[in-house]
Amino acid sequence: MAPRHLIIGGGTAGMNAIRTIREEETERSAITLVSAEKPYSRMVLPYYLDRSIAESHVFTATARVLRDWNVTTHLGKRATALDTNANVCTLDDGTRVEYDDCLIATGSSAVRAPVPGADGPGVHSFWTLDQARGVLAQIQPGSHVVMIGAGFIAFTILNSILSLGAKLTIVEVAPRILPRMIDDTGAGLVQSWLEQHGVAVRTGAKLTQIDEVKNRRRLKMAAGGDLVADVVIMATGIRTNLEWLKTSGVKINQGIVVDERLRSSAPNVYAAGDVAEGRDLITQANAVHAIEPTAQEHGRVAGANMAGKDVRYRGSLIINIVEVCHLDVASFGAWDDAKAETASGVKADRPAYRRLLWRGDRLIGAIILGPSSDIWTTNDVGMLKGLVQSGVALGSWKAHLKKNPFDIKLAFIATKTTGSLLPETILGRPSKAPGETPVAV
Ligand SMILES: Cc1cc2nc3c(=O)[nH]c(=O)nc-3n(C[C@H](O)[C@H](O)[C@H](O)COP(=O)(O)OP(=O)(O)OC[C@H]3O[C@@H](n4cnc5c(N)ncnc54)[C@H](O)[C@@H]3O)c2cc1C
Repeated sequence: MAPRHLIIGGGTAGMNAIRTIREEETERSAITLVSAEKPYSRMVLPYYLDRSIAESHVFTATARVLRDWNVTTHLGKRATALDTNANVCTLDDGTRVEYDDCLIATGSSAVRAPVPGADGPGVHSFWTLDQARGVLAQIQPGSHVVMIGAGFIAFTILNSILSLGAKLTIVEVAPRILPRMIDDTGAGLVQSWLEQHGVAVRTGAKLTQIDEVKNRRRLKMAAGGDLVADVVIMATGIRTNLEWLKTSGVKINQGIVVDERLRSSAPNVYAAGDVAEGRDLITQANAVHAIEPTAQEHGRVAGANMAGKDVRYRGSLIINIVEVCHLDVASFGAWDDAKAETASGVKADRPAYRRLLWRGDRLIGAIILGPSSDIWTTNDVGMLKGLVQSGVALGSWKAHLKKNPFDIKLAFIATKTTGSLLPETILGRPSKAPGETPVAV
């Protein structure tokens, strides 16, 4: 009998796994996809919000594509239990799906600040397509939008909110914006930039309650200075979708603990993406990296192993990149490692900032920001990521970078970093041309 693969979750990790199974398998297998939502990309929702793409463009596979890939689907249904002894997954309508191996790729969900009124009308999360529809329907030109939380996700939708003609206030409980993405210096520069572009920012500000007043929201703040908003967006974090696995016996820490092949503690159960706790490229410890590149790579490595290949994953790199009001802001790897050797440079008038972190002569992390119109900002973002990702030995270029943290290009070229990144894909083989395969990977 053909092997039966079950994919639970049709987001980035799940869809990459399906593609890779079809790409790598030597005998045609049976693939079943169970997903609470139709396959789409969360990462493009900001472009749907600012109306630069139509809703149809967020989907990553239509019913026809899934049929062409010969995938049996249970869409709009949730997995509610996994019996890893009997190899059966139960769905919310009672359907039982048997498998030979399965991939858990159920991602994460938005969490709201636990304050009275957080679930009231006019208060939104922005994580799913449904939630994006809700926000889009509410924002009018001139609306006052208050965003609670100044983390990465808040910053991915900031431009879209402004482009709809709304007035924006950002409230952050931590002493600085982007507290898990950049340091104090970087955060100070970004905050000033936003304020110059008309965005009000309150840091160290604790929301205590939301009331409805004449069809608007009054936000009570612990230190006073209440805010009145037309729309409130809670960008206050996410949690992995794991509750349904309580009785599965699969080992769970912050996420489903996986080995270098993306296998969980049950050998025929894999996990990938936001829900998985896999190896970190820099620290080599296990961690949850709830970002798109990790979901893609996890999905591909898990898919290849499910298709019978033996692929080891070298680990995922933290990559945070946002652009706000034409300022590029990024951090990579161990950007906040207190033990690392560091060098930094600031040009407050641009503003531009670089912070580089080393272990020995290898870069293990970086922070970079600068105006998008400065061509070297954009180039440096890619080159810094390459230097951290490749872990290339910098030799004497380390001293050069320490003295000149803005001169990334020379070190990147001289150390032949491109050459070390190009030869093979994450599956440990050269790229294949489109046409040879169902998709170019
Ligand atoms: C607005 C926004 C912007 C973002 N921008 C970026 C960015 O710029 N860069 C970046 O790196 N990352 C970004 N991300 C994060 C990125 O989208 C996620 O890391 C990525 O989607 C994770 O992929 P995944 O496959 O693990 O999970 P998801 O894409 O969340 O997919 C999970 C799937 O599982 C389904 N599911 C959940 N529970 C069940 C269940 N019990 N049974 C069946 N199905 C279930 C869900 O419906 C969904 O289809 C952004 C996210 C958002 C919301």
